[in-house]
Amino acid sequence: MSLSPEHEEFRKVVRAFADREVRPKAAYYDERAEFPTDVILACGEQGFLGLPIPERYGGAGADYLSYLICVEELARVDPSVAITVEAHTSLVCNLLYHFGTEDQKTRWLTPLAAGKKIGAFALTEPGAGSDAGGTQTSAREDGDDYVINGAKMFITNSGTDISLLAIATARMADGQISAFIVPVGTPGFEIGRKLRKIGWHASDTRELAFTDCRVPKHNLLGESGKGFNQFLAQLDDGRIAIAALAVGQAQGCLDECLRYVAERRQFGRPIGSFQAIQFKLADMATKIHHAKLAVYHAGNLRQNGDPFKIEASMTKLFATEMAVDIAREAVQVHGGYGFIEEFPVARFYRDSKVLEIGEGTSEVQRIIIARQLGLDPGLR
Ligand SMILES: Cc1cc2nc3c(=O)[nH]c(=O)nc-3n(C[C@H](O)[C@H](O)[C@H](O)COP(=O)(O)OP(=O)(O)OC[C@H]3O[C@@H](n4cnc5c(N)ncnc54)[C@H](O)[C@@H]3O)c2cc1C
Repeated sequence: MSLSPEHEEFRKVVRAFADREVRPKAAYYDERAEFPTDVILACGEQGFLGLPIPERYGGAGADYLSYLICVEELARVDPSVAITVEAHTSLVCNLLYHFGTEDQKTRWLTPLAAGKKIGAFALTEPGAGSDAGGTQTSAREDGDDYVINGAKMFITNSGTDISLLAIATARMADGQISAFIVPVGTPGFEIGRKLRKIGWHASDTRELAFTDCRVPKHNLLGESGKGFNQFLAQLDDGRIAIAALAVGQAQGCLDECLRYVAERRQFGRPIGSFQAIQFKLADMATKIHHAKLAVYHAGNLRQNGDPFKIEASMTKLFATEMAVDIAREAVQVHGGYGFIEEFPVARFYRDSKVLEIGEGTSEVQRIIIARQLGLDPGLR
């Protein structure tokens, strides 16, 4: 499928922004493993932190395809910035928009979508990852409050200087899982140390702890007992955006390779004149082309309100495994220099692996696809 001329115009705007504001700082924040607050606030000023959210809630009122284009273009230069925008938008803003009350949207969604603050989506626990329904965090009613106890693991965007809230799942007394808005600063909500990762260094990832953490009843997101299904619905949505991120990063690798093979000379010729190198780049371009078509096809289904579950998982699976392969090949094309941090492909290589893990591992995507094919994986 092809994008409209308006979408391609929007791509140019994001690309120009990414080249001007994001690219020059990517290595700096990566090396220091520092959250790029200024870059993320600049994204917010452009409207990139609330693209698919209506203007009445502080968003840009753009369509879902525009949002995918934005994630793709940011990932082309810095996957850490792209995942910050993706987790905030797909998993938090969209969750609040689809399931929040009017009051919650006004109070919490508006500052997030307006790009002044960011939010975190807290589903994974130390003992409940792929089996996220095995959540041990609990929430009990006490007067006008819920009291939350438990821990969350690997939570993106949770401890930055512009983090506003986390939306956390917790199990109720009746065994059902609900979702709660927990503002930063709530007593008993402890934001743990920043985790040291092999990639996505500039993205903020932490462990969270809840110890008799009280939130008022009106911080329950949507209906009681529906939290897990709400989160799963947003993950379907987010998987298309992760696939867009993978496509953007793979394109970034190809861009770097095209530049390098024209400059680097061996045996008296640019290495780009060797057919073995040309074939690697031809394979990269072919895979990126197909993954991109899959991303925009799934995005179009989602945008039109058509079912997209199997397409989201297939696209996430295909695009992320492709991005990991391309990052590895991009380092190979750069030879020893690809192993040196000054070259962006080294960062892309480190950043790529997690794509096969976050928002559902490749194995989980295969389980979802098999289920959609009518097969029973024998899981709860
Ligand atoms: C950098 C980063 C950021 C993240 N951000 C967030 C976030 O913002 N919010 C959030 O809630 N979570 C987040 N996560 C968590 C992420 O979604 C989980 O790591 C992921 O879902 C896998 O869970 P796990 O790590 O516990 O692995 P496990 O579930 O323990 O899996 C270990 C291995 O077993 C495999 N496996 C598990 N079950 C099966 C099965 N039934 N069949 C076959 N294979 C299986 C997995 O595929 C994997 O290979 C983040 C993770 C990372 C690394």
